[in-house]
Order: sequence, then structure tokens, then C-alpha cells
Amino acid sequence: MSGAAKLLVLNAGSSSLKFKIFGLEPFAAGVSGMFDRIGDAANCTLKASAAADAAGGKGRKWELKIPAKDHVGAMQNIMEFIKENVSSGFAREVVAVGHRIVHGLEISQPVLLNDKSIAKIREAAVLAPLHNPPGLQGIEAAESVFRGVPQVAVFDTAFHQTMPPHAYMYGLPYDMYEKHKIRRYGFHGTSHQYLVEQAAEMLGKPVSETNVITCHLGNGSSIAAVRGGQCIDTTMGMTPLEGLLMGTRCGDVDPAVVLHIQKQLKLSIQDTDTLLNKKSGLLGLTGSNDLRAVIDGAHRGEPRSVLGLAMFVYRVQKYIGAYTAALLGKVDAVVFSAGIGENSSIIRGLILEPLKGMGMVLDPAANAATVGGKQGAISVPASPVKLFVIPTDEELAIAHQTLKASGRAG
Ligand code: AMP
Repeated sequence: MSGAAKLLVLNAGSSSLKFKIFGLEPFAAGVSGMFDRIGDAANCTLKASAAADAAGGKGRKWELKIPAKDHVGAMQNIMEFIKENVSSGFAREVVAVGHRIVHGLEISQPVLLNDKSIAKIREAAVLAPLHNPPGLQGIEAAESVFRGVPQVAVFDTAFHQTMPPHAYMYGLPYDMYEKHKIRRYGFHGTSHQYLVEQAAEMLGKPVSETNVITCHLGNGSSIAAVRGGQCIDTTMGMTPLEGLLMGTRCGDVDPAVVLHIQKQLKLSIQDTDTLLNKKSGLLGLTGSNDLRAVIDGAHRGEPRSVLGLAMFVYRVQKYIGAYTAALLGKVDAVVFSAGIGENSSIIRGLILEPLKGMGMVLDPAANAATVGGKQGAISVPASPVKLFVIPTDEELAIAHQTLKASGRAG
């Protein structure tokens, strides 16, 4: 893909910077990778891989230890890496850059980045303190190397903007919403939208005629109820803390618990925030935020791992039930995706086996075989509700939306 116009998608985390390059002539995914542990000079790594190309190439993988003190440094190292391994003229070939940004307040569509939209992302950082600041660093990093190239922000919250008020409002005084924008926003929207579009193809129906429940289960997890391609409810709220039990986040909790912690245990606001977002969930319950370790612990009979696993599974089942009701009992498909949803046939089995009575009939052999990035149905052919595993591809969805927003055909 050397020489031709390219699009770059960036996804900045607190200490990571993911990238994916797309060729535009013709449109095709190329090299992707991730700079991890930015700021930790001893362990900073750049991992990248190249998909086997259409002409029958074999694909390639790289793993390099390179220090980067911040996102701008990581971006410069990524540029060096791409120059050496992908295309020497990369800096000139990039025609647009797409960024995954978690929160955009009321912005519901991808936007071209300028002073005004960047100010909005900064304003929204109060509601996404873990995610928007690194997103802004990713933007700054890209601006430092691609001056004048259109940059687009694609918001995690966008897909959920179709939720009706009865789903997005909290039972708080109305002022809280009007004056302070306190409402449910939802996240992982780019992923849920992608999953719904893929599910519609697998169902052989137009998206507008489908009712789908999408389960994005990874370190951060959320579920969405989607009617006719439009989100009607999702488990995350004003921030990505609400809903399911996650790797390090508590998910649903009585808000009075938070007051109690602060009053009785004298925890500061900052410490409470860290407790709920970074020390809770599977980590807080079992000692590991990695579901694989929790499953191993449960196999060894460790009571906390057994509990953590049961809680994770139960909350997913509970929301699948709730969203079946939100979709008035008419569900075409339930989709599983992200690190856990794509890879753990054990978890999918634990969630789905007891839901047979809701018309969700798992095929154990198909379930066991559909792991490691495979896409397919895991329900028996006669299952009234289809069960699908679909590897999410947020970068691809961001690439399409970036092309549209920057005035290039998708
Ligand atoms: P993500 O945030 O989508 O990258 O997902 C990461 C999470 O997926 C990890 O923290 C693991 O807990 C989980 N995961 C990945 N592979 C497996 C597996 N085979 N079984 C259970 N969990 C897995």
C-alpha cells in the first residue's frame, strides 16, 4: 500500500495509543498496532501486525521495545516505525485522521476537529476523566505530525443519542439535566453500531427491520438494545461506570453506598473515584481484572473467583432479560463481542445455557469452535433468537465515519 492515499485511525488510552492504517485506493485495512505503557520507559512496547494482503501476502508481526515519555513521543515513534516498515512517504500520504473520543456531551455526529470541537471535548472531560484527556493527547500528537490534514472525532456516545428520554434520564431533579447535563449517555457506541450492521447482514435483513441485543464484553463491558438500527437503551450511563460488572469498575451500585464510603470511611472524592473505577469489579472482588484468571481461580474452587464469575454472568443475563422486555419480547439476535465475548466460549455458555427458555438455544459445538477472532452463529439452526459472535472492528467503523465527515466518500 506504499505511495497511495491513506487514512489513519487513532485510539488513545491513558497509557496506550492504538493505530490502524487504511489504504484508500482501494479501501483496505493495512498495518495496525498499539503503543503500550507510554511513560514507563523500561516496559514501553510497540506491537504491530500487518494483515495478509489481497494479493496473497503472508502478514507480519512486530514487537519492539521503544521508550516514549508521552503520546506525542509515541506518535513520533509510530511514524518512524511506519516510515521504515510500511511506507517512507507516510506523512505525506495521510489524507485524514480519525480519532476515537469517548465523550462529546450532546454532540451526536462525527465532527471535524477545530478549536470549537476541541473545546467541547475538553468540556466533556469532566464526565469522562479517564478517557477524554488521553483522547486530547492523541489529537495533539496527530496535529504535531499531520499539520493541515483534516482530523475527525468519532464519539463513543454518538450511537446512543437515539435513546428515548425515559431511558436516558435519571430520577433526579430536572435541573440536574437542564443545567448540568446529567443524564445517561452510553459508550462503546461505535462498536455497538458496527455489531448491529454485521448482525443485520448475518440475518439477511435490512438493519431497519432488526431487533438486536449487542453485548460488548471486554475489560470495559456494555450491552445495548437496538431497534431498527437505533439504540433504545444501553447499560453504561453518564460515565462508563454504570451497568455490568467490569474488569476494574463496579458497575451498578446504590448511590447511597458512595455517600456512605465518603462519610464513614472518610474517603476523598478522588480516592472514591479511584476505588469505583480502578479498584472494583473483578479486580476488587477476586484480585484479578482478567477474566481468564478468574475462570482459572473458579476451577480451583477459590470462593471469590466463583463469586466474581457468577456476578459477571448474572448481570449480563439480567440485562439480556431487561432488553428483551425493552424490545417487547421480539429479539432477532443476541451478539457477543470484544475480548471476552469473542474469546470465551465458557462465559458465553454460562450466560446462554440457562436462557433456553427465552428462545436463545446455544449450539455447544459451534460455541466452542467460534473463538479467536472468528465470526459466526453459535445457536442451533432452529433457535428462535439467533446467537452470534462478531469480532468488533471499531477502527473500521471510525474509518468509514472519518471519510464521510472529512468529505471523502466512505
Ligand atoms: P478488551 O477490553 O476487549 O480488549 O478485552 C480484554 C479482556 O478480555 C481481558 O481482560 C480478558 O479478561 C478477556 N479475555 C480475553 N481472552 C479471553 C478468554 N479466552 N477467556 C476469558 N476472557 C478473555
